[in-house]
Amino acid sequence: MTQRFDGTRDLRRAVDRLARRLPEPLEDLAWIAYNYLWAWTPGGDELFTDIDDHRFKLAGENPVRFLLNLPERDLLRVATDESYLELLESVARRMEAELARPVTQVVPEGPVAYLCAEFAVHQSLPVYSGGLGVLAGDYLKETSDQALDVVGMGLLYRRGYLHQRMDLSGWQHEYWVEANTGQMPIVRVRGEDGLPIKVRIPVWDAELVAQVWRVNVGHTVLYLLDTELKENTPLERWVTSRLYEGSHDVRLAQYALLGIGGMRAFEAMGVNPGLFHMNEGHPALASLEVASRTAQPVGGGDLTARLDAGRDRFVFTTHTPVPAGNETYSPEEFFRVLGHTVDEMGIDRAQLAALTRVDESSTSEPMGFSPLAIKCSRNTNAVSRRHGEVARGMWNPLYPQLTEAEVPIGYVTNGVHLPTWMAETMRDLLGKVLGADWERHANDPSLWAHVDEISDVDLWNARCAMRQDLVDMVRDRIVVDRLARGDDVGHAMSGLDAFDPANLTLGFARRLATYKRLDLLFHDVDRLRRIIDHDQGAQFLIAGKAHPLDNEAKNVAKNLFSVERSLDVPNRVIFLEDYDLRVAPALVSGCDVWLNLPRPPMEASGTSGMKAAMNGSLNLSVLDGWWSEGYDGRNGWAIDGSTLDDPHAQDERDANILYDLLEREVKPMFFSRDANGIPVQWLARIRASLRSLAPTYSSARMVDDYVSRVYRRPGA
Ligand SMILES: *Cc1c(COP(=O)(O)O)cnc(C)c1O
Repeated sequence: MTQRFDGTRDLRRAVDRLARRLPEPLEDLAWIAYNYLWAWTPGGDELFTDIDDHRFKLAGENPVRFLLNLPERDLLRVATDESYLELLESVARRMEAELARPVTQVVPEGPVAYLCAEFAVHQSLPVYSGGLGVLAGDYLKETSDQALDVVGMGLLYRRGYLHQRMDLSGWQHEYWVEANTGQMPIVRVRGEDGLPIKVRIPVWDAELVAQVWRVNVGHTVLYLLDTELKENTPLERWVTSRLYEGSHDVRLAQYALLGIGGMRAFEAMGVNPGLFHMNEGHPALASLEVASRTAQPVGGGDLTARLDAGRDRFVFTTHTPVPAGNETYSPEEFFRVLGHTVDEMGIDRAQLAALTRVDESSTSEPMGFSPLAIKCSRNTNAVSRRHGEVARGMWNPLYPQLTEAEVPIGYVTNGVHLPTWMAETMRDLLGKVLGADWERHANDPSLWAHVDEISDVDLWNARCAMRQDLVDMVRDRIVVDRLARGDDVGHAMSGLDAFDPANLTLGFARRLATYKRLDLLFHDVDRLRRIIDHDQGAQFLIAGKAHPLDNEAKNVAKNLFSVERSLDVPNRVIFLEDYDLRVAPALVSGCDVWLNLPRPPMEASGTSGMKAAMNGSLNLSVLDGWWSEGYDGRNGWAIDGSTLDDPHAQDERDANILYDLLEREVKPMFFSRDANGIPVQWLARIRASLRSLAPTYSSARMVDDYVSRVYRRPGA
C-alpha cells in the first residue's frame, strides 16, 4: 500500500498541541474539539457551554478557538468539577465508540469522493451559503453515522458567505468576516517532507497554488483547498476568499480549483477515490482532469474517447430546475481564465466548448457546467420526484433521439440529518415512545407508528416549549438588530414584547430569491392585517439573505419592512437578520407552521420544511419540490403546484389560496381547543406529519438511496 499523507499525522499533532495546554483531566477535550462529531453527539454542546456559555458564543461556537482563549482559572475550575468530568467522560466514550466502528466500503475501487462548492457542517466553519451547503453537510454527517468510506472535497473560503445588516429602510447591506485559520478545528495537510502539500493549476496567465486543509466530520474527512499563500498574487489569493463571488473570472477560477485542484490534491495525498460524486455542476472540470490522466485509448486519443474511459467513475446530482440557474460563461471569459489549464491537459478548446453546450454544433451557445457534468457522468439524478420530471424536460435536447420520459435522469429526494435538526425537546419526547437508540433506525416507518402513543398533553407542552424558546430568541435579537440599524430606542425596546408565546407562529426563512415569493405573504395587506390583528392572532417570522447583486430580492425585503410598519399591531411581523446555521434550528423547531411559496416548478427540493416536520411543525407549501411527494392530504397544507403562463395571475391565485387556507383552516384549527386548552385536531395533524415525513425525509434514507441506486448501480 502506498503511504498516505492525508492529514492524519497533522491532526494528531494539532490535538497534542492543544491537549498540552489543558489540565490533565480535560485532555479528551482536545481531540473532541477537532472532530465535529461533538456537534451532533448528545451532551457535546454542553461540554463547552457548561464551561462558559457566553465565551463559547463569542468564539463563534468554535471549540478550538474557545479552548485556546479560555482563562486558566476556568479550566482549573471544571478540571475538579465531578459532574463536569462525568459529562466529559460520557461524551468522550460515546464518541470513541462511534469512531471505533469499522468503516464500510461503498464501492470496491476506493472511497466515494463528494465534491461540492459549499459545505454547511457547523456555524464555526463558515464555508456555506444555504440549501446546497446544508445538504452537503448533512450528507457528510450521515455517511459518518453509517460509517461509510466517503471523503469530501471543497474550498476554504476565508471570508465565507455574506453577513447581513438591514438599514432602517429595510435595504440589505453586506459585510464579510475573515476567519482565523490558526484557531479553527482544521489542519494543514503536510507531505512526506513535512511541508504543506500544494497543488498547482494554470489560471489566467499564471499559476494558482493551493494548500489543503483537513476537517474531521465524525468518520468522514472533508478536505478544503485554499489559495491564501505568499506565492499567489492578491487576485489569486482572492479566489478562495468569498463564496458565490459575483465576478465570473473569480468563479471560474474557483470551479477549476475545486474540480481540477481537488483531483490533484487527492493524488498528492495518496487518496484514490473509486467514485466521484459531483454535487451540482461546479466541480464538473474534475472529469477533464481524470480524462487527461487516462491513457490514450488505442486507435485514437480524442477527448470523447478519454472521457468515455473516465465516465464510469463519475455521478452527478443536478439541483437547478431552471435554465437560467445553470451558470454559463462565454468562451472568451472561460478561456481567458482557464485556457492554459485546458491546453496543458492536452484538451482541444473547441472540443471542450462543444462538450459544455447542449447543441454541440453551435458556436454561439455559452459554455455551461451542467451539460459538461451530465455528459461526463455515468449517472445523473435530480433531487425530488417532480424535479426529476422537470430535469428530464429541461435536458431532453441533450438526447434528441429520446422522448422526455426516456431521458436518463432519475431522482434521489433530499433528506436532512435528524440528530442535527431535531430539537432536544422533541428528541427527549420521542425517546420515551420510540425506545432507546431509535435514531439508529430512524428511517424505519414502523418505528414512527409509535408517535400515536405520545399523549396530547406531552406533545402540546413540547410544542409550546419550542415556541417559547423561539420567542425568547426573537425578543433578544430584535432589540439589538433594531438598535444596530439606528431605530429609535422606544421602537427597539418594544421588541421585548415582540410576538406572543401563545400565538400561531408562522415561519418563512430561506434565500431571498424572487422565485421563493416572500412577497406573496403581503400580496393583500388588508387580508394579512386581519389574519394578524385578532385576539387569536398570528405572527410571522421572516429571515433570509439576498445575493449582493440581486436588487430585486432586496426590494422584496424592503417592501416587507414598509408593510410591517403599516400594520396596526406592532411586532407581529418580524424580520430576523443574518439567517444562517446559528438561528435556523430555533426557527424550524419553534414555528407552528413552516411556509414555502416557490414559483413552481423552481424549487428543486427544499429542505427546511423537512427540518420543520421533524420538530412537529406543519408545512404549508406550494406543491413543488419535495412537498409534491411528501404531502398526503393530512400531514400539512398545500397550495396548487400547477403553473400559469401569466406570472401575475399565478401570484394572485396562489396568494388567495394561501390566505384562504390561513383564514379557514390553519387559524381555526390551531385555536380550536378542548376543555384542557389543547388543540386536538392540530396535534393529530402533527402526528400524521411525523409518521409520514420523518422516516422518509431523513438523510439516512437519502444516503441509502445514493448507495443502492446510484453508487452501487444494481444490475449494472
Ligand atoms: C435548511 C437551510 C436552508 C435551505 O432551506 P430551503 O428550504 O431549501 O430553502 C438554507 N439556509 C439554512 C441556514 C438552512 O438551515
